[in-house]
Amino acid sequence: MFEWFGKVNFCPYTKVSEFASHLKDGRLMASRCGKCGYESFPLRADCAKCLAGEFELFEISGRGTLHTHTRIDAAPAGFEDMAPFTIGVVDLEETGRLLAWFGESIPEPEIAIGMPLQVVPRIFEELEEIKLYYSLEKPGTSWVKSPSTE
Ligand SMILES: [Zn+2]
Repeated sequence: MFEWFGKVNFCPYTKVSEFASHLKDGRLMASRCGKCGYESFPLRADCAKCLAGEFELFEISGRGTLHTHTRIDAAPAGFEDMAPFTIGVVDLEETGRLLAWFGESIPEPEIAIGMPLQVVPRIFEELEEIKLYYSLEKPGTSWVKSPSTE
């Protein structure tokens, strides 16, 4: 099933390959260290706090609040065609912080620090390199596993 998510890699990502199957089922997962309980999203196979290698996955809602945002006018290589665009950093309700694009449900004038957001995974199985990114949408926005299979 890891093939579905991209290239097969033997260290350490195979330890978290279960993330892909949950994502395919429409569930966003984070990790909890089996030794110290440290929670992380994106999930980690090896604990960032105590370096233990055992962990469990738990589902997160994807809900969060906007920590900060910026508009990109001079885009980095590969993204020139998309500029200008706005990205934001969201503090997730359960754990973690995520950088993502703003989706179409939120017009730029409505963007405000502290606003509630929903992280929505966007999965593109047909691309060679970029398989998954996240967009920031209005609370309550639901998501499907892949726009290409709608
Ligand atoms: Zn730990």
